[in-house]
Amino acid sequence: MAYVSIPAYWKTIPQRYSLIGLRCKNCGYINFPAREICAKCGKKSEFEPIKLSGKGKIYSYTIIAAGSTPPEFLLQEKYVGSYPVAIIELVEGPKIVAQLTDYKIEELKIGMEVEAVFRKIYEDNQVIRYGIKFRPIRKRRIHKGS
Ligand SMILES: [Zn+2]
Repeated sequence: MAYVSIPAYWKTIPQRYSLIGLRCKNCGYINFPAREICAKCGKKSEFEPIKLSGKGKIYSYTIIAAGSTPPEFLLQEKYVGSYPVAIIELVEGPKIVAQLTDYKIEELKIGMEVEAVFRKIYEDNQVIRYGIKFRPIRKRRIHKGS
């Protein structure tokens, strides 16, 4: 019942877990997640791997609730209910769609500084899915599980 087959999932683990982007040698744009054709110049040029800092800021966000779920998050909503999904603009430039964690709903705002952490996303038939989530950067950490 997992919505991505296990072998396909494991194949993507290195980039999911290590925040490696690919810098296009043609135009300098950093592609993340990695892809074969540069998202900016459209060339299938050579790429050089770049370790991303995982730091960025909230470019925009939305609360995913019943009835408004994009298809790729539909199954997840069944497991965890409503949750925010944000577009994060990384300091290196790429924008990625990711979930937030360790936040208070009332403190979320555009431009808030966040950092990447690895968190359990959901558990399905004893398969635990991990991925990158972003949490607000603040001086005092709040620990409240996954
Ligand atoms: Zn390019």
